[in-house]
Amino acid sequence: MNFAIPPAPQASVGIAASRDRFPVRRIYCVGRNYAAHAREMGIDPSNSSPIFFCKPADAVVPANGSKSVSVPYPPQTKDFEHEIELVVAIGRGGREIACSAALDYVFGYAVGLDMTRRDLQANARKRGEPWDTAKAFDHSAPIGSLYPVSCVGHPESGAIWLDVNGKRRQEADLEQLIWTVPDIIHHLSYYFELAPGDLIYTGTPSGVGPVKPGDTLVGGIDELGEISVRIN
Ligand code: MN
Repeated sequence: MNFAIPPAPQASVGIAASRDRFPVRRIYCVGRNYAAHAREMGIDPSNSSPIFFCKPADAVVPANGSKSVSVPYPPQTKDFEHEIELVVAIGRGGREIACSAALDYVFGYAVGLDMTRRDLQANARKRGEPWDTAKAFDHSAPIGSLYPVSCVGHPESGAIWLDVNGKRRQEADLEQLIWTVPDIIHHLSYYFELAPGDLIYTGTPSGVGPVKPGDTLVGGIDELGEISVRIN
């Protein structure tokens, strides 16, 4: 096949203790999945079903080395914020997946950052407009190494945390997720047909806040390593 222009490179993520890479097809994200974060956003966490939004696959910034990766401070914002999240990698396709079967579709897990132009999100919420400019911009999805299920199982609890310049900003436990990984896969698979290569950012705990050029963000999840990002 001849393409009229060169096709875009395949976005991918490193896999822990492997030379293989995980090709990224789509990035789905869950909003407001920790009660304390919903409340800090001014939303009642008790009266909702999961909300989903997307980022483009090439928003991933692989951050699986021991040194920081650079993320440029994005244009069109004065409030660029961090959201540390558990990321689920889908290894098998399906639709209308039952909660009881959902974990069979998981390839592995990673720690990721759902970077957000919060001022644009606040404007969008106020005006009932889409979130794309707030969430789906270039370099908005840093992600650490993927840890296959064969290595780490399915983490249901464990610390999730983020430091900015050495100061703790976010700290919670995965068991505080309102919608668990099976719940998320179940609900999402009724809206979209899931396929191998999909990533799901599962939502952030409370403590989100702004970063500026020169800041270093280090975050982690028990058993899933750390991610280190420097804002340029
Ligand atoms: Mn998020």
